[in-house]
Amino acid sequence: MNTLADRLAEIRARMNRAAEKAGRRPEAIRLIAVSKTKPVSLIQEAIAAGATELGENYIQEARDKIPRINGEITWHFIGHLQKNKAKFAAALFSWVHTIDSTGIAEALNRRAGLEGRLLNVLIEVNVGQEATKSGVLEGDLIPLAEYVSGLTHLSLKGLMVIPPITAEPEAARAYFIRTRQLAEKVAAQNIPGVSMGELSMGMTSDFEVAIEEGATMVRVGTAIFGSR
Ligand SMILES: *Cc1c(COP(=O)(O)O)cnc(C)c1O
Repeated sequence: MNTLADRLAEIRARMNRAAEKAGRRPEAIRLIAVSKTKPVSLIQEAIAAGATELGENYIQEARDKIPRINGEITWHFIGHLQKNKAKFAAALFSWVHTIDSTGIAEALNRRAGLEGRLLNVLIEVNVGQEATKSGVLEGDLIPLAEYVSGLTHLSLKGLMVIPPITAEPEAARAYFIRTRQLAEKVAAQNIPGVSMGELSMGMTSDFEVAIEEGATMVRVGTAIFGSR
């Protein structure tokens, strides 16, 4: 009695409870089912169970899998993007969560233009200030948002964060709060064409805390598809 459909339903129930606890509307939070490393057959099972938004991390893998999957799916790229893969990201995905430099934004914009597409993007912030992590440091955020606002094939919609890995979900709360505050700070700049309505934060271990702190997209892999 623990099918993928059961697990998906359980995640949605937990999301709804977290939203209610925080006094938020459950419809304001989207579930992105993270299917990296998982086969097409399992992804089809998730779609049959009602998943409509899927996330992938690796361009090579996405190029193999996405064309084989039927259904009205919104694909999110949530991995680290390299410039030489921008072409494929622009063709395969509707959302890119991991913009963290002017160089990658420029490359993605150019490729989106060639594909005739407008991509929704988020800026990834490195609020943990971890040296090994991707994402922009706080001081570089507003200049990057201003740069992206000038790119005609990218639409900046908000921020994304991956907090430092900890055993305790509560430990992530401060990072989620900080990310929300940073989004408010960018929004207050009234940069033309830039919206900060979306906060992509929360994974299997901490999505409820993220929802309590304002997440509009949670990225859940393990709890739906099993361990990797
Ligand atoms: C893999 C991944 C997830 C999903 O992680 P789980 O812990 O399996 O839910 C979410 N976000 C990013 C950026 C990831 O790389």
